[in-house]
Amino acid sequence: MKNLELSRIFEQIAKILKVKNENPFKIRAYEKVALVLENLPIDLETIYQQGALDDIPGVGKGIAKKIEEYLTTGKMEYYEKLKESIPAGVIKLLDVPEVGPKTAKLLYEELKVDNLEKLEEAIKGHKIKNLPGMGEKSEINILRGIEFYKRSKERVPLGLALPLAEEIVKILSKLRETERISFAGSLRRKRETVGDIDILITSQKPERIMKTFVSLPQVREILAEGPTKSSIITKDDVHIDVRVVGPESFGAALQYFTGSKAHNIKLRELAVKKNLKINEYGIFDSITGKRRGGKEEEEIYKALNLSFIPPELREDRGEIEAAQENKLPELIEKSQIKGDLHLHTTWSDGINSIREMAEAAKKRGYQYIAITEHSQSLKFAGGLTEQKLKEQIEEIHNLNRELKDFTILTGIEVDIKSDGNLDFSDEILSKLDVVIAAIHSGFKQESKINTARIIKAMQNKYVNIIAHPTGRLIGYREAYELDMERIMQVASETGTILELNAHPERLDLNEIYCRLAKEKGVQIAIQTDAHSIEGLAMMDFGLAIARRGWLESRDILNVLPLDKLMKRLQYKKKDY
Ligand SMILES: [Zn+2]
Ligand SMILES: [Zn+2]
Repeated sequence: MKNLELSRIFEQIAKILKVKNENPFKIRAYEKVALVLENLPIDLETIYQQGALDDIPGVGKGIAKKIEEYLTTGKMEYYEKLKESIPAGVIKLLDVPEVGPKTAKLLYEELKVDNLEKLEEAIKGHKIKNLPGMGEKSEINILRGIEFYKRSKERVPLGLALPLAEEIVKILSKLRETERISFAGSLRRKRETVGDIDILITSQKPERIMKTFVSLPQVREILAEGPTKSSIITKDDVHIDVRVVGPESFGAALQYFTGSKAHNIKLRELAVKKNLKINEYGIFDSITGKRRGGKEEEEIYKALNLSFIPPELREDRGEIEAAQENKLPELIEKSQIKGDLHLHTTWSDGINSIREMAEAAKKRGYQYIAITEHSQSLKFAGGLTEQKLKEQIEEIHNLNRELKDFTILTGIEVDIKSDGNLDFSDEILSKLDVVIAAIHSGFKQESKINTARIIKAMQNKYVNIIAHPTGRLIGYREAYELDMERIMQVASETGTILELNAHPERLDLNEIYCRLAKEKGVQIAIQTDAHSIEGLAMMDFGLAIARRGWLESRDILNVLPLDKLMKRLQYKKKDY
């Protein structure tokens, strides 16, 4: 998806215009578009193909042309020219979150800082805190920004890596020469971002597999091509290795290359105690050297007297101990999901109608969905007025009379305003089946304020779910400053459910918080925030993170059948 790329470019344009002291209205316009695109998880290319770019709020003819140019050529002339109009170093600094236009200009003019290295040096030498308007906190913030920037450059988001790996595995598995094939590594563990992609195969004649692999259309550069290992870099800068392993070692290699390192170290220690040796080739008796297995991954765990540990849990976070005691969680499965409760349609900034969303959800085997558009103050995202919401409720009731074995719930994604008040009155919220509350703006406040906003929303008895609680955008924006422990506490006291937003750029709550929620008895709703029927498929990413967070079906809201779900949604209202 190019949405965030373009959002970032428009943000950069606004920043450069600020450095240049340009017309504030022009700057606002670019800032607004950046925000709209960031919050618009419908693929811009889809919108472009439908010729509907200028239907996006805040996108006028001029900006639509720029988006089109970028989508079709991969470049934006205006942006390229604009970048040339200020020192290159200043632009580089703008890539670092926490370095705004004013700061970049200041650093360049006062300290001649025009790249990351010099910026780091200036911080280490404590030269920044004495500049006008800066202080010790600024140095800490900038340093954090640099670390974030570096991390985001090195890793590939799951949303890009997983479909790419699945596609390549699919192509290679169709070849007659391919016997067994699987990807391994952090991708198989479904980490939210991954390093390289490792694919393992068994084959008697791997030459044609390797030839096919290195000549895939996705390949930009071949790093190595050989009968046992080939490496390429894709056009999206993803490093992929394909390795051939012996059929007797496939399971051992899969286990070894899936990792994590910490998990494997612990397994090897366990093996030593049992006079066994495990490595990428198999399991061996360490005294006689005799092979004890390795063809199947399960054999490794069995040999160590462990129940099989799903890849998502292999992080040395207690899974080995749990496997020893036969106490591994029964992780949530795709087939258990019965609906999706956070969806947008053409009524706000989505691109499919309510009926289309319902039909697509039914095809996925769901029993229900909830339509939860943005509320009125989110004008850029087509937020609904009270009147419009009432009309939508009408339409949903009519549709429900038509649909068989499927239910559309009425709902809203009501904005939590800066002061913690909700964007709609209780009177209208009380008419809805599902109320989701979320922060969409003003999140650059300190932890105390943001936390208080969310807590206030949770204390409203009509609020069922808090959406994308931490507000992070992977690789683009860090989580808001929040006291999550406190939020979990109040969620558990009030019976408020927290969302695991399944969109691969959000995955919010993350796996650590999911596990904390489980410990605190807070229920999680895995929901896609889909703005189109394609978006419904993002559920898979949410499931991956839920599994990494040790969640079981009893921890999840949207596994409930409709009658139980409706009861659960009434819970807070009755309690007061
Ligand atoms: Zn939202
Ligand atoms: Zn939403």
